[in-house]
Amino acid sequence: MTSSTVIVAPDGSCLVVDPGVTRHEIDTLSSAIRSHGWRPIAVWSTHGHWDHLLDGGMFTGLPRWSSGAPVDVETLTNERDEDAELARVLLGSPGDRPAAVAGAPPVAYPSVDGFLDWPGPPVQVLTHDAHAPGSTSLLVRSADVLIAGDLLSDVEIPLLDLSSTDPVGTYLAALDLLADTASLVVPGHGHVGALPPRVAADRAYLTGTFDDPRLLEPWLAAVHESQVTVLAD
Ligand SMILES: [Zn+2]
Repeated sequence: MTSSTVIVAPDGSCLVVDPGVTRHEIDTLSSAIRSHGWRPIAVWSTHGHWDHLLDGGMFTGLPRWSSGAPVDVETLTNERDEDAELARVLLGSPGDRPAAVAGAPPVAYPSVDGFLDWPGPPVQVLTHDAHAPGSTSLLVRSADVLIAGDLLSDVEIPLLDLSSTDPVGTYLAALDLLADTASLVVPGHGHVGALPPRVAADRAYLTGTFDDPRLLEPWLAAVHESQVTVLAD
């Protein structure tokens, strides 16, 4: 249920995708990586929202790869400090604090023919504009896994980029891109699961089926209210 995923190369070097939100999560993830003897060589930000631009501990100073979409870190820091969802997360763990905003802004990832140029298994980078401009999902075919970023969650409805001229159209196009790429999906927030039913659930929501169990969560019901006019178009 954390945002983080680690892709490990045969030589033990690893790529850390979206390391976490709280200092506690970053510390726990660092300990797990150390206990396996893995060596992080870079951090991946699936998109430019604040909760995917955090680091600290062993991740500080690592290269931070993304699609290269520009990110306004100062604005995001302010949003993080005022974020109601963060307050909700931290309420459950008194004394925990948000992780540090990454020192280095994300840069375009090293690539060869659309694949990540790194020592690990081939990672195909799928770039789209669902949820945030320049979002990326990582396809690891050898593991039959799609690391989706903030899409295809069992606990969150599709969260639209309302600054887009066509939030629903870009989101549906991304689902078309990601559908059938793998058997399993690892979402940015939510549980690992089978990919096809996640695609079906998100398509249903985006095309007007709102009897969605994910809407029982109050903060998502509130987000839904802000999205419903766009969805009704
Ligand atoms: Zn996000």
